[in-house]
Amino acid sequence: MRVTIHLECTQCRERNYSSQKNKRNNPDRLEVKKYCSRCRKHTLHKETK
Ligand SMILES: [Zn+2]
Repeated sequence: MRVTIHLECTQCRERNYSSQKNKRNNPDRLEVKKYCSRCRKHTLHKETK
């Protein structure tokens, strides 16, 4: 059930993080606030494939 995902900055669209999630526990698109080195601040990151 675990799938690999990428987390993309919603402001510059840079893919900064890759992680894994459990599809059964998190069926929806993951949203996390993380540091983006391109924006040089914390931004909202959304899941991409
Ligand atoms: Zn960014």
